[in-house]
Amino acid sequence: MTIIPTSPSTNSVKPNFTDYDGERTRFSWSDIERQLGPAPGGCNIAYYAVDRHDCDSHRNEIAFRFVGPNTNDVGELATTEMTFGEFALQVRKFTDVLRELGVGKGDPVVVFTGRIPELYVSILGALRNGNIVSPLFSAFGPEPLATRIRLGDAHVLVTTEQLYRRRVEKIRGSLPSLRHILVVGDSGSTTDIPDTLDFHSAMADADGDCDITPTSADDAALLHFTSGTTGTPKGAIHVHGAVATHYATGLYALDLHPSDVFWCTADPGWVTGTSYGVITPLLHGVTSIVDSNEFDAERWYRILEEQAVTVWYTAPTAIRMLMKSGPELAHKYSHPNLRFIASVGEPLNPDAVLWGRDVLGRPIHDNWWQTETGGIMIANTPGFAIKPGSMGRPLPGIDACIVRRTDDGGTAPVETPNVEGELAIRRGWPSMFRGYLNNDDRYRRAFAGDWYLTGDLAKRDADGYYWFVGRADDVIKSAGHLIGPFEVENVLMEHPAVAEAGVIGKPDPIVGAVVKAFVSVKKGQNPDDALRRELLGHSRKKLGAAVAPKEIEFVDVLPHTRSGKIMRRLLKARELGLPEGDTSTLEVGG
Ligand code: AMP
Repeated sequence: MTIIPTSPSTNSVKPNFTDYDGERTRFSWSDIERQLGPAPGGCNIAYYAVDRHDCDSHRNEIAFRFVGPNTNDVGELATTEMTFGEFALQVRKFTDVLRELGVGKGDPVVVFTGRIPELYVSILGALRNGNIVSPLFSAFGPEPLATRIRLGDAHVLVTTEQLYRRRVEKIRGSLPSLRHILVVGDSGSTTDIPDTLDFHSAMADADGDCDITPTSADDAALLHFTSGTTGTPKGAIHVHGAVATHYATGLYALDLHPSDVFWCTADPGWVTGTSYGVITPLLHGVTSIVDSNEFDAERWYRILEEQAVTVWYTAPTAIRMLMKSGPELAHKYSHPNLRFIASVGEPLNPDAVLWGRDVLGRPIHDNWWQTETGGIMIANTPGFAIKPGSMGRPLPGIDACIVRRTDDGGTAPVETPNVEGELAIRRGWPSMFRGYLNNDDRYRRAFAGDWYLTGDLAKRDADGYYWFVGRADDVIKSAGHLIGPFEVENVLMEHPAVAEAGVIGKPDPIVGAVVKAFVSVKKGQNPDDALRRELLGHSRKKLGAAVAPKEIEFVDVLPHTRSGKIMRRLLKARELGLPEGDTSTLEVGG
């Protein structure tokens, strides 16, 4: 195995983290809280991310550089900049807007837009107002959107005119909890959609001089939806105190320094995009690059070069797509400023780590975390050698271990190196989720004593590096997005021709897994190509492109357990031509 030693510091920037064992021994969360300092009224993420910088040295520095679709007069991608001071004013104004509407502390707010300035302003303005904020992915179709608005009992929705017309209008009548919808007009225009408010008109009427709402470290701040094997999505509740994890991981796992230009490519509609595309760079006072467009290999190389990105946080699917686009394209651009690259969300193959080193001049540092952990837990950092293919080691302040489930329903630690078990994290880190919305029982079952059980299978080697093995459940990771098979099966089964559907992740060399559905049809229906196309279109319309199945295979019957559950594990084994494993619970004839 190639081991990549720690790289010498470049551009005279000394890494924040060089002594793994020493830093872990010295580390305390109260030190991090001291570094952040006291906040008026308790602890509010928006104070640390926004208000604080309005009166410190960052005020006139660039907080965001939004990269637009067109080029400027020197042929570079045109950008719009916003300083920390300008951003703070917009955020305060949005807090005013919410207060004028009577939206108070604890009221749930959903933000459903593309990566436009109003998204960042709305998230922080609502946090500042003490609301519980859910940013939702703009590629969600009406069904996942409605499910999440209903589950979260959202009172306020911020969206764009285009998304309103395409996704919200049809479902609005079925969302009685929504009291206010603020719409951002397309290309700066005002909107006059009945029963909605024009975002910019409301902002123009606000003066932005209202105080931050007092919140404590234990008050709910963010509600992130995540998928499980069964049932509706789970709402993971996160608190304002999570800010300590965001700050610490910005130091240790992303090596942020005040002069950095940081690009997190994740969409804020997913937890990585909120924690590291919105909150963490603001906490550290660095400039964030935001690209409103979708992935395009040449565009991404251009952004890295033209924006002089120094720290880049991206995802394995994107890296594999860049690798696929070939070396000629990569060599058209240079990245002398790029100092540190990290990746998250799916297994990162060792050749991708080495590709980073050879093509971009920096190896890629894989790290691991999930919606429930709220921030990075395990990482390859500048402080120690990278073992390509490994997720790295637990960060300071984080204890991890491998456990196995015992017959009495408990767990026991797996001490022997390289033995597979479930990855567990010792409870108590600041960004630990504090509940699943309306599901205390599910939350309790996520813990065994002091340990949070992650649902991921992994191994730890003798040097303390963790290696991902797979998921313990049936959720699907496709292009870095977590998809619950149940949500997809439900939509397929709403179609009048479908008797039953079973959904799996079919391994794919680029996106990790593609969503594949096995469908049995009702009596009298013809399982032909026309029906397949119709079902693909039906799913795409309801679920959105990010969630809908890419493949549908018709089958006569789906395999069930004796208790009637579809055996997705068996569908997957059959798809891959693997042994079917224990089929003792299989219903006869399945
Ligand atoms: P999410 O909650 O959507 O962020 O997804 C979290 C899940 O993504 C984890 O539980 C893992 O299954 C997977 N994941 C995250 N990071 C990694 C990684 N570095 N390697 C392998 N799988 C990962």
